[in-house]
Formats: sequence, structure tokens, C-alpha cells
Amino acid sequence: MKINYYQLSIRQLNELLKTKAITPDQLTKLVYKRLTQFKKLNAIVTSLEQYAIKQTKLITEEEINNNLLAAIPFVTKDNIATINILTTGSSKILANFIPNYDSTVNKLLTNKQAINIAKTALDELGMGGDGLQAATGHVLNPWNLKHITGGSSSGSAALVAAGIVPFALGTDTGDSIRKPAAYCGIVGFKPTYGLISRNGVFPYAPSLDTVGIFTNHVEDIAIVLDTIALPDQQDFTSVESKEKDYTKNLDENIKAKNIAILNYNDYQWNDTVKSSFDEAIKHLTDGGAKIYQIDFDKQLLQSLLPVYMIISFAEATSCHANLTGINFGIRKNGKTYQEVMTNSRTAGFGDMVKRRYIIGAYALSESHQEELFNKAKKVRQLIVEKLNAIFKKYDAFIVMPTINPAPTIKDVLEQKKVIKSEHDYLEDLLLLANLNGGPSITIPLTTFNGLPIGFSINGAPCNDQVVLNIAWFLSKRINFTNKLLGDEHE
Ligand code: GLN
Repeated sequence: MKINYYQLSIRQLNELLKTKAITPDQLTKLVYKRLTQFKKLNAIVTSLEQYAIKQTKLITEEEINNNLLAAIPFVTKDNIATINILTTGSSKILANFIPNYDSTVNKLLTNKQAINIAKTALDELGMGGDGLQAATGHVLNPWNLKHITGGSSSGSAALVAAGIVPFALGTDTGDSIRKPAAYCGIVGFKPTYGLISRNGVFPYAPSLDTVGIFTNHVEDIAIVLDTIALPDQQDFTSVESKEKDYTKNLDENIKAKNIAILNYNDYQWNDTVKSSFDEAIKHLTDGGAKIYQIDFDKQLLQSLLPVYMIISFAEATSCHANLTGINFGIRKNGKTYQEVMTNSRTAGFGDMVKRRYIIGAYALSESHQEELFNKAKKVRQLIVEKLNAIFKKYDAFIVMPTINPAPTIKDVLEQKKVIKSEHDYLEDLLLLANLNGGPSITIPLTTFNGLPIGFSINGAPCNDQVVLNIAWFLSKRINFTNKLLGDEHE
């Protein structure tokens, strides 16, 4: 029997493994075969083939019968430490870094005998939104190789979209899971800040950094979350949520849920996107939810990007001060300590990262801290308060993750869009959930010019379940097919 494993959800794969329609060994081999077919995506930093084959041999029948994740292949963004396995953050400065410790999240998945297939490319150290900033080169969008995947969790998004693995780990500081998910036509989930341990995850901006998950199916998000959403003493920002058993509590009943939708009235939608958006809202109404269009102070929305930039660049400047080539990483020669650091950092970082450190250092400097860093923190507080007020009244808040599909690589490189539009801020709304630490999910909505467009649902911190439930409800009703999972791609 020919098995198109890439069309299957975690539960379906587990069923095949349980009935021995496929062995763990065969599954791992199929994954590497498909990975080779999609090599052109340039999505990985390190293939773990030898390691994965060895791990697969350890899987027991008992494990497969008792645990949905046993033998399930996944990939890990390369800023998540994997013990004794190269972890570069897609930066030249860490090109030789083999951690002697494991991230909590990798350990939890490995304990469940899920199989780590590869470390995936990211915009260097998580800094970027296009997938063009990895030391290993551009990551290409499987829907159309001329287009970007978005970033920074670019490789993870591309591999899930191409059906190579049913789930992938990413990190989201500003939108780095949910935007590539929108551009690649998959599900991307950023849980509540602190719900998944960040122990062993390279920091970018610690007050915003969140580990999250990519899948093709909403239920798979809940399944993975059940394994990795655990309080961890090794992460001092770890939260213990009252919610647990996300899979068991998936519930299609959205009756009487109060759902707010951002008022887009002064924006001229493209007709296809608008009608799909309206259709999704109609599904929610038909399901018994109460829908409210709400306004959000436009000035605050326009400040989302500058606030995010100042806070995240400043935090990155401070927490990457240890990347000097002295304690670890690539070292360049110099006569003094200072020269070694300067030479190592000059050679080790890409332009995007350097630019961000310069802005970050400026925002933290004594003479500018008040007007930049402290002010950004105050505006962040205003945004958080506004969101608190929204979530007091509503169970969820819906925004579009992007208003346009993925641009071409060429346009991004040539910075085609220099003319600023007053609606640019509509591309930055995913930042809301990073600033207040709430859960946020992107699911696929439709395609436009042959490229996917997503739909996002946000919730109050520690209310991850309702966000998953609404996404689950909608994903069963929205008519979207990931064309890459069709038979012709075998
Ligand atoms: N696009 C954002 C940026 O450029 C997101 C980064 C992230 O979430 N890691 O920084």
C-alpha cells in the first residue's frame, strides 16, 4: 500500500503506526526522501539523518500504543539548543556551537520519542521577517519559489507547508511564527508568554520571546502543546496556567462566545480576501458566537512597530553582548581583548543584526534612554491596558495577520515598497500579542494570486484554549487546501 504520509495528521500517523501499516523506520526514511525532493527550499541548517535513524530504532511498541508523538517526525528552529548537536541560530558567529545542554522543549519531545529530523534556518538569531537573513542563504516559499516565506522561523514554516513533517518548533518575538504561517498557508501558534519553557532557547528579546508550533492541522497544535506546555524551574518567566489537556478540551462549541473583530472600515480590501474574511465571520455567527466590530486607537496601532523595534533591539543588544568570540563561537584574531571582540563581531554578524544592535545601543544610551527605551515601555503599557480592556469584554480578538500575501524575494531585496502607505500598520497587528503576552494563532484563510493569506485569533494571557477552539471550529469550515499536500507532489 502506498502511503502519502505527508497528508496525514499526527493522530492519523499514530493510527498507521499502531496498526503497523507503517513502521517508525519506514516513516523516518520517507521523511528524508521527501526532504531531498524539497531541497531547493534551502530550509535547513543541519540534517540529523544519522541521529534520527538511531533514535527511531529505540522506539518501542508500547510507546506507540500509549503516546501520540512516538515516532512522529518534527523539525526544530536552529535557535533552540539540541544537546551535542550543532545549534547556530543561523549566525556565522555560532557556526561551530555544539551545546552541551538540551533545551527543555527538545528534551520533552525527545522523551516522548518524537523524532527530530533537522535544525531549520531562521533569520539570524531570530532577527528578521523575510527568511532572507540566514547564514545558509535565502529560504524559499514552497508555494512559489520566487516569494519569501516570511520569518524569522522560515525553515520550520517551509517544511511544514511542504508536508515534510507534521509539526515544527519555532519562536515568536514579533510575529515570527504567525506571519510565516500566513505566508505559507499553515497553522502557526504563539501560546501565552511563558507557557512553553524558553530554557535553552537563544534569547532575542526576553520580554517578548515565545516558543511555539507550526502544523497543518489545529488538533496537532493541541497535541504538541500537551507535551511541551509545562512549568519549568529553569525558566524564571515560566507560567503555570490553570488550563491543561488542550487536546481533550478542544471543543467546537463556540456558542455565546463574544468575539471582537478589528474594524477595518477605512481600508479598501481586495475583493477575494474581503469575501473570504466575511465568510469566516459568518461561520462564527452561524456557530452561535456574538460578533462585535471594535475600534482600536489608530495612533496606538501605528506605534506598534516602533515600540516593538525599540524594545526588542535594545533587549537584543544587551543579551547578545556575550557573543564576543571569546567564551564561545567563532573567534577572529586581534592583539587585545577588545580587538578580538571587534573583529569577531564584525565578521560574525550579518547586516540586519548589526543595524539592530546600533539602534538598540542608541536607545539604551544614557542621553536617549528616556526619550526612546523608557517611552517605548510606556506606550507598550498603554497598548497592554487597551488589550486588557478588550479581553475583559470579549473572549477573542480577530485581526488579519497580513493584508497582502508573501512578496517576491526580488521586491524585498530591492526594497521596492519605499512609498509608505497610511495602512502599513495593518501588516504589524500580530505584534499586539507579543506586547501583552497573549495567545495568538494564524490559520489559513484563502489564496490570492496563488499565494496563501491567513486569519488570526488572539486571546487573553493564559486563555489559550478558547483561541484553539475557535481556530478548530473555523478550520473545519473554511475551505482551504494546501496544494503542496496533493498527490502530484509525491
Ligand atoms: N518580523 C519581526 C522582526 O523582524 C519578527 C521577529 C521575531 O518574531 N523573531 O523582528
